[in-house]
Amino acid sequence: MKIICIGRNYSEHAKELGNETPKEPLYFLKPDSAILAKKVPFYYPAFTKDLHYEIELLVKINKLGKHIEERFSHTYYSQIGLGIDFTARDIQQECKSKGLPWEKAKGFDGSAIIGTQFFDKEKFESVQDINFSLNKNGKEVQKGNSKDMIFTIDKIISYVSQFMTLKIGDIIYTGTPAGVGPISIGDKLEGFLEGEKLISLNIK
Ligand code: MG
Repeated sequence: MKIICIGRNYSEHAKELGNETPKEPLYFLKPDSAILAKKVPFYYPAFTKDLHYEIELLVKINKLGKHIEERFSHTYYSQIGLGIDFTARDIQQECKSKGLPWEKAKGFDGSAIIGTQFFDKEKFESVQDINFSLNKNGKEVQKGNSKDMIFTIDKIISYVSQFMTLKIGDIIYTGTPAGVGPISIGDKLEGFLEGEKLISLNIK
């Protein structure tokens, strides 16, 4: 499986990092080895001094597809989850300034946190109206709603499938809202989707 991540999909977040609002979806990949396995502790990587959390809604692909028309995108996924796209911001800035790829900053082991469960999308009145948030040490640091996505889930699926075949089990990280920030060893992160806690992570 592959992990597709959308960047700059919330305008307030694009602004906070000094980026322009994109005119078409921006995506990058994480390898499957980036997924932090269940019950494995998360260790702060030695190669960064500025590790950032990014809470994001996840979409799990359930059907093989390419060149998907936007009006059919909804038939290619049935579940929504929650994740953290960990980013070594110092390394990413260095890559960006040199025009280099982001994998070193985004694809390292443990950089893809996936919540304890996925929900059927029918649970939500609209997939473009889902609340999610992240607490750091008990204090809310990020709060988003999928209605603020620049590119909807259907648009993302259609767009990415023009370039890459989507396969069953692929996961899309749909972008983070404003409020990203650094974490330190000893911090605790908790992620919520419509009030349900799906992520609880101690940084070691
Ligand atoms: Mg992200």
